Amino acid sequence: MIGAWRSGLGWRLAALCLVALGAWLPAHAAGPDWQQRLDHWVRAGFDHPDDALAALQRDELWLDTPEWARLAAQGSVLARDGQGDRDARALAIAERLRGAAERGDQRLIMAGAKLVDAIRFERQGRFEMAAPHALAALEEFTAACVRDDGQPTPEGCDHRIAWRARQILSLNALRLGVRVDAQAQLEAAMRVARQAGDTYREALSLALLAGLQAQGGELERAVVNLEQARQLARGLPGADDLLVRLKISEARLASARGKSRESIEHLLQARTRAENAGLERTQAMVQANLSDEWIRAGRPEEALVAAEFALPVALAHQESRSERVVRHNIVLARLALGQLEPARRELENVLALWHASGAPGDEAIALREFADALAAAGDAKTALALYHRERELSAEIARLNRDSVLRELRTSNDQAAKQREIELLRKEAEVQEAQLANRGLLQSLWALAAFGMLLALLGLGLLVGRVRRARARLVRRRARLRTQSERDALTGLANRHYALGQVRVRGLMQQYAGALLVLDIDHFKRINDDHGHAVGDAVLVEVAARLADVLRDEDLAVRWGGEEFLVIAPTLPAARTALLAERIRRSVGRTAVRFGAGAIEVTVSVGHAHFPLRRRSSGVQDAPPLGWERALNLVDLLLYAAKARGRNSTVGIESIEATDEAALVAIEREFGAACLDGRVQLSATGPAARGIGAVPTPAMA
Ligand code: GH3
Ligand code: MG
Ligand code: MG
Repeated sequence: MIGAWRSGLGWRLAALCLVALGAWLPAHAAGPDWQQRLDHWVRAGFDHPDDALAALQRDELWLDTPEWARLAAQGSVLARDGQGDRDARALAIAERLRGAAERGDQRLIMAGAKLVDAIRFERQGRFEMAAPHALAALEEFTAACVRDDGQPTPEGCDHRIAWRARQILSLNALRLGVRVDAQAQLEAAMRVARQAGDTYREALSLALLAGLQAQGGELERAVVNLEQARQLARGLPGADDLLVRLKISEARLASARGKSRESIEHLLQARTRAENAGLERTQAMVQANLSDEWIRAGRPEEALVAAEFALPVALAHQESRSERVVRHNIVLARLALGQLEPARRELENVLALWHASGAPGDEAIALREFADALAAAGDAKTALALYHRERELSAEIARLNRDSVLRELRTSNDQAAKQREIELLRKEAEVQEAQLANRGLLQSLWALAAFGMLLALLGLGLLVGRVRRARARLVRRRARLRTQSERDALTGLANRHYALGQVRVRGLMQQYAGALLVLDIDHFKRINDDHGHAVGDAVLVEVAARLADVLRDEDLAVRWGGEEFLVIAPTLPAARTALLAERIRRSVGRTAVRFGAGAIEVTVSVGHAHFPLRRRSSGVQDAPPLGWERALNLVDLLLYAAKARGRNSTVGIESIEATDEAALVAIEREFGAACLDGRVQLSATGPAARGIGAVPTPAMA
């Protein structure tokens, strides 16, 4: 079947091409000669698809090559290029390969077909589709080529199929936020390349791995892998594309270390190298990375230039992954340059792209970055609306992740938590034993009483004493148990469970009355990243202590989750709520938190309100009451407003113009607008400075 494809043999230009072949034929790469020639054109196809496709169509060059392999190579060049009708042509090739594989029961050819499909979807940024195809390619390849029976592997078992499939699987894992899997796939790909003696791909895997590790904060491992990649690349002639990707990984490492200028320097070198080597699409990829880094460095003009260079290339190749990132950066750059109108017009389109990408984590980051940038540009209304959306999306992600996090927690070697749990269980068992013993004693008591007054009276004193002591023991143990189930083990503050119980007991669930404050440590992730989790924990303990310091006995401080705290203060007068928020802000930020040899500046943002909310126009009448959930949601919005102010801030509600429930609901729904049109009056304290983050660029092919 497959042989029939070899048609129209011609010898035109054969000599010319053979000369060209000699120039590039790499001495280092693995596999038979024809595999290396195919590989050359597949690699060259990224930047020079026309040349590659022309070469792959010259029959005279491929007399020694199985036809399916040549077709698969064409398919992957077309799939990766995607210009004009090439995506459709790639699909047609995949279909042909699939048909041939099915007719001849050839799993290796099926692997080739699946890989072409996977590459098409990868380019389109549709990883939910790319991943199953890549997995199928890997499975077919393994079934056909990985033999444990000592038989020789069939001809055409090209390790590059497995390598490429794993690379796509890695990107998919990254999209889903499972960094560990992403790394594991790249490591497996690296081993595949190493085993095959494919130095180019071994180096490329290491460079990509280093980039991933740098982004994930594993700086030391990134350094080691990068150095290894560099050494491998040194021996390779004419691997400009590899050197460019190495530079990009170096840039990521520098960026992860907070050395933005160094990172930009690496990227500029990468750009020059790509430009000099005539690698136009690679150059656009570098520009996309540069736009990210310029944004991070607060240089929107340069970011805009770089992004606008990259955009047409991404569009021409219908490469939605790059398109997303680049258009995102264009919006950020325009916002930073004060070009609000065009930015706002484009923003929803970009968000729609993020939404369609099936990576909710990235979508949430995008929402937050836009919100930050809009807030910085003075558009509080849209910013708040986006914060709200981000909040909802994050809650949704958290809900989805909760199960897997719980699972992870259970299996993680958090010995302390486990120990606590075991201890609790043990104590519970003790309490139950004591209860049983108690009951047994009472029974004996009754039996004795029945036995006879005289005798009973004798023993009674003794027994009553024992019962009393057992009871007292029971009461003490219960009290201790209760404290343990009510307190947060790290900070000693009340936990969420206890807080909700108190809200219920005090009748605040249906109608919250009094002050409610929510605070969140600013840039806490950085503290963890820079100093480690243990220092992060110490900071949490210190912040909790500083918070508790400024509260009265009747106020309840709660560790609501992570690095977020609540203050429930039903008896605090309205007039003192903002003062308390500001005292908390100052108390936390007053002096750096010391640990070991170092010290860290820690600040918090606070959202606060006093319920029922007051109406300005009416000295006597309050706004309609709110239940606990809605009150909490409202202070959460205020917390986000405080973050948007630049953090280290407090934001509270002064007054609200809502005479009835409907008006109140409307204000909650369109909070940003209500702030602007005066239905809500806010008060704020704290310095306002701002920073804009950046969306991580996906690793490249
Ligand atoms: P922002 O100013 O916007 O609040 O930035 P942030 O970095 O504080 O934001 P984010 O909420 O994304 O980060 C919170 C981090 O807190 C993420 C999580 O790893 C960390 N964290 C949560 N619970 C704990 C904990 O018990 N101990 C430590 N050390 N870190 C924790
Ligand atoms: Mg925080
Ligand atoms: Mg937080």
